[in-house]
Amino acid sequence: MARHTEDRCNFCGRSRSEVNLLISGLNGFICNDCAEQAHEIILEQQKQLEKQMDAVNFNLDELPRPKEIKAFLDNYVIGQDEAKRNLSVAVYNHYKRLMQPDTKDDVEIEKSNIIMVGRTGTGKTLLAKTIARMLHVPFAIVDATVLTEAGYVGEDIESILTRLLQNCDYDVKKAERGIVFIDEIDKIARKGDNPSITRDVSGEGVQQGLLKLLEGSMVGVPPQGGRKHPEQKLIQVDTKNILFICGGAFDGIEQKIGARLNTRSVGFATDETRHEIDRNNLLQYITPADLKKFGLIPEIIGRLPILTYLEPLDADALKRILTEPKNAIIKQYKKLFEMDGIALTIDDDVYQLIVDKAIEFKLGARGLRAITESIMMDAMYNMPSQKTKKLHITLDYARQELAKANLERMRNE
Ligand code: ADP
Repeated sequence: MARHTEDRCNFCGRSRSEVNLLISGLNGFICNDCAEQAHEIILEQQKQLEKQMDAVNFNLDELPRPKEIKAFLDNYVIGQDEAKRNLSVAVYNHYKRLMQPDTKDDVEIEKSNIIMVGRTGTGKTLLAKTIARMLHVPFAIVDATVLTEAGYVGEDIESILTRLLQNCDYDVKKAERGIVFIDEIDKIARKGDNPSITRDVSGEGVQQGLLKLLEGSMVGVPPQGGRKHPEQKLIQVDTKNILFICGGAFDGIEQKIGARLNTRSVGFATDETRHEIDRNNLLQYITPADLKKFGLIPEIIGRLPILTYLEPLDADALKRILTEPKNAIIKQYKKLFEMDGIALTIDDDVYQLIVDKAIEFKLGARGLRAITESIMMDAMYNMPSQKTKKLHITLDYARQELAKANLERMRNE
């Protein structure tokens, strides 16, 4: 009988008896020391890569062009071309600005903070998230509604940056080139056109505080967020190069835009030009003056020079959202079933049903997942323990599952 030769590490050649642990692979072995060394090499490589991705090290040739940024967004976000184009250019310019040499006589490129106006659930957060994912920079989403002036219940404005710091393990240098998405910016609008007769806790005072961040200044950030208190050690963060993207639904702003367009057309618009106004999507005509009318202070508006809008999502867009994006909801369910070896097929009219229900219950794109989940729930519960390896969803089956699900409780009025 052939003598069994002792197993050896294929990297250092030492035998099993010479090492603590020998891990076997398909065609060979690796010892614990070599595995550890390999791991260190990987970590080192990752660090190098991260360094390369750091914005300051970007050179213009490596920077994704606006068209590439938009193409990347197209993979994840349906429609919203106007917002995508604006965002792509703004982000591109932002990074060009970061790369501009520090010479005194140079023209200084100003920061291109962005404000996106659009109904809730139309993709504002998704756009901001997708941009950050592409650029590998720290990214944080914060909600403007929790912010209040110092001295009141709520969070300090500076806590906006706490999330950003947390998301990059408190690496201040990284955070200083990150992107912050401030959601529901419309909720800190001044409550009336008349500035502050009574104290406006979450309105103008907060806007003034926010202004400091948008302008670019050194701010003391409470490491754990919330309220600052005197004994606390604050982290100093320079906001000069942080890109702020703000989003809000600005409920009711369409009426203001409509009114403005109407008054303007009196007298000098011909019937023809008046006819061109698309009354179904007035947001496309939004101007900074409309934001001011809504209650944002002019200084804030001035610091958000890129104003863009999102379109309302119609049935066609909802259907595309369900099936087309890289991580579309339907693709996710197919994957989940696939992991149990089950092939999922869905009739086309089921998609239409899901979309109709999302519209009926005023749930928008956010409702698509919940409705699909209701249809799939029984199958997801039962099938993994069954032998059948095919699941075909018909309109009848979907209707029957939805009837059980009591969608009424999800209705969003
Ligand atoms: P907003 O910030 O405008 O309120 P979100 O970006 O949070 O809305 O959208 C909610 C969810 O709806 C997203 O996570 C995504 O699944 C879906 N969604 C909304 N709009 C789109 C879109 N244009 N393309 C793809 N998915 C979308």
